[in-house]
Amino acid sequence: MNKKNIILISILLIFLLFTLALAIVLLNLGFNKTFNYPKNIIQTDNIPVASDNILIVLISMDGLGWDLIGDDTPFLSTILNEEGTTYTENALTLTQSETLPSHISMVTGLTLEHHNFHDNFITPLTPTMEWGSIFDIALENGYDYRVFVTKNKLSYLLGDKQDEKLKVIEEDSIEIIDEIDSFVEPNLTDMLVFIHFRDPDRIGHQFGWGSTEQRRAIQELDNNIRSMVNDLDNEFQSYNRYYIFTADHGGEGLSHSSGCPSCRSIPLIIYTSEEDIYPLPSEEYNIYDVACIITKLMGADIPEVMDCKSE
Ligand SMILES: [Zn+2]
Repeated sequence: MNKKNIILISILLIFLLFTLALAIVLLNLGFNKTFNYPKNIIQTDNIPVASDNILIVLISMDGLGWDLIGDDTPFLSTILNEEGTTYTENALTLTQSETLPSHISMVTGLTLEHHNFHDNFITPLTPTMEWGSIFDIALENGYDYRVFVTKNKLSYLLGDKQDEKLKVIEEDSIEIIDEIDSFVEPNLTDMLVFIHFRDPDRIGHQFGWGSTEQRRAIQELDNNIRSMVNDLDNEFQSYNRYYIFTADHGGEGLSHSSGCPSCRSIPLIIYTSEEDIYPLPSEEYNIYDVACIITKLMGADIPEVMDCKSE
């Protein structure tokens, strides 16, 4: 064997060794890709993202006095017995037991004497509401809000904030339940939602408070509220959720404006699926206390101007 051949064979051997090493490296990379990489994807993808966001839903059932809660409201009756529920049998609306003045107190925390708004209607000449409300407190505290009402006059509650966060549809609950579902969506921030249902009041004026017709309407409303709460529970499942069920007034006969006992006695039910249940330690609550309850749920300070209970 001459020198030239030895060099040639050496080069060939070095080349073969290099090819072998390269093949081993490439195969290893291939195995990693096939077996390890997908495992990592599967592990991280299916873990639900924990969230500290809060959802507060204020539900006002127009005309649904406390004495109408019972056999006709199986959903609300079930809620009353839930572990996460607190409620009072001693909640009162204003002596002027009418929709607009009562709702103004509900969202501003002010007594009737304080906000001094006695009309149960608005006209083009009605000045814009200037009192601060739970919706202002929401924005100041990093909350977003949505307001869905079924009487146009309640748009007054938003003051000069007549924008896309407010929706007015003058229909009964069965007609709007899908609209509410698409209007209220989680958006990665804390959220305050106000929903107003007109059903018991509309049927009460027509057929009477406690009439068969009104009782049937209340059963339907209760069922629609059940769907709405289910929808919200599903969509906002990563949120800590609080629901407040109340009303602006009850009624008797075909009316409710007189301040009669069944006109003034309203439900005040606070329900949460969380461990932090909301205590209701006082003997009596007024409709304007709802604003303080919501302010505290938002973790905000209660403005001094408000008349509602701070504990
Ligand atoms: Zn009415």
